Formats: sequence, C-alpha cells, structure tokens
Amino acid sequence: MKIEKDRAVRFHYTVGEVGQPATESSNGGEPLAILIGHGNIIPGLEKAMEGREAGETFSVDVPAAEAYGERREGLNQRIPKKHFGEQRLMPGMQVVLQTNFGPRAVTIEKVGMSVVDVDLNHPMAGKDLHFDIEIVDVREASAEEVEHGHVHGDGGHHH
Ligand code: ZN
Repeated sequence: MKIEKDRAVRFHYTVGEVGQPATESSNGGEPLAILIGHGNIIPGLEKAMEGREAGETFSVDVPAAEAYGERREGLNQRIPKKHFGEQRLMPGMQVVLQTNFGPRAVTIEKVGMSVVDVDLNHPMAGKDLHFDIEIVDVREASAEEVEHGHVHGDGGHHH
C-alpha cells in the first residue's frame, strides 16, 4: 500500500543538520506514527514520503523553508525564572516551557538572578535537515483518525 493522504504511516527516522552528525533518532525505540495530509510532520518530509511503501528506506535533504521555517528576529522574551522550576539553566540549553499555547521548546540565551532571556525560535529553525527514513508500515486510517487529524493506537494518540 502506497503512502498517500489519509493513510497512517509508521516510520523510523534519523535527523541532523545537513553536513552535520545526526542529533536525533527513533532507532532503538518505537517508530513514529503519523497521519498523512494533516500537518503531523514538516511538509518537506511528508512530500518525500508520498508514493512509498512499507520496507522502503530513503534519505532526503529538506531545506529550512520546508522544515521548521527560517529563523525570525525579535522572537526573544524575558521570562521570570520561577517558570523554569528547579532545573539548572545554561545558555544554549533547550528547555520545554508550558505556555498558553501548549508546550514549546525554547533556547536559553541568558540567565539572570530572577529572569531568563529565551529565544522562541524552534531549535531547528533556519536549518536544512538531512533525514534517513525507514517506512515500517502503511495502512488506511479509520474515519475517526481522519476526523481527529492524528493516528490512534500504537505510536499514536491514546484518549
Ligand atoms: Zn484522536
């Protein structure tokens, strides 16, 4: 079964900046489960998956514009230190903050006595990414999954 809109796909991935060592991988863990055509993953990777089948492996370079977007200036914010809990903060470190819009990865820029300056750009923003992908399986999504816009069950959402 080929990968196309409204099909559920499980895959393993390794990703890093183009020309750099990989920084993240699902190998050794559970594959990622996504619903095609619902914005579950970055557009450039989803496009590269279309038409492929279970068992296929491939590599693809995705430019920043089709990955996490370009870095934007002015996305810096000063946040009271208490929001970071007990963790020890260092410049350059990435932490996940709970915001009104849900969890968000930010990069620590400067740590003061009572406030912390952070960069709200996605850590992978502005980077061209290299992916190594292995398609594990492909199936039709259920009507409920399509309605929710995500995969249920193994590797997906549990309600
Ligand atoms: Zn759901």
